[in-house]
Amino acid sequence: MIDWMQVLDPLGTAGRVPALLDQVEHDEDAEAWDHLWDALCLEGETVVPASFAALPRLVALGRRSPEALSLAGSIMRGALQDHGADDLLLKCTDVVAQLRKLLDQRLKSRPTDYLHAFRDLLAADGQYHWSAVLGDFTDDFYHLRCPCCDVKVTVAIGDYGRYSAIRDWHAGDIEKRELKPASPEDLVGTGRWIYDTAVRDGQDWLAKGLTCLFGRAECPRCASTFDIAAEYTAANLPSPGE
Ligand SMILES: [Zn+2]
Repeated sequence: MIDWMQVLDPLGTAGRVPALLDQVEHDEDAEAWDHLWDALCLEGETVVPASFAALPRLVALGRRSPEALSLAGSIMRGALQDHGADDLLLKCTDVVAQLRKLLDQRLKSRPTDYLHAFRDLLAADGQYHWSAVLGDFTDDFYHLRCPCCDVKVTVAIGDYGRYSAIRDWHAGDIEKRELKPASPEDLVGTGRWIYDTAVRDGQDWLAKGLTCLFGRAECPRCASTFDIAAEYTAANLPSPGE
């Protein structure tokens, strides 16, 4: 049981959370949900200790409420923030495992907000970096440095092309080189898991974009090729408190 009197309350809103949870558990009151989002995940981003105190009830409610699942997932996306509730989060290990199961089940139902739910699942799985970076591959850019010659390389994965290039502020992306997508059978680790889940759920756009993101790019300057996902991960791995 959560002792709400012990929950740090930097925004001064934790006190009304238990009553709001009571309310949404009894009926899907839209106004109560709005207040809960404001109190637990302001602007869909900022989490507070009360967010993790509320997580067990949200996940329990998530069995029948997509809204609860979405709020719980968004809270997990903020787990690396400097929220001062690492102790509460540690106590939630079983709850987070349950959340992962529920989010995976939800993905199987192919919801319209598939990408959002997938990013929630990645966060619940502790893959915060990929949770933050995964886009819909219609207009995605990744800014990297060539590991060989250190020149800035822009990698584009979108409807208009899938290429590596040098970004010129006047001329746009120049010296474009086609990406070399990974073969699905060569994917491992997180890439493998995301790919398999996307295929299972009929999300061809995600599966296809992923083979590019986990594929190789050619540096337009020195012509060496490098692993896009590995370089992006090395440059952008979040650290606790950021
Ligand atoms: Zn290079």
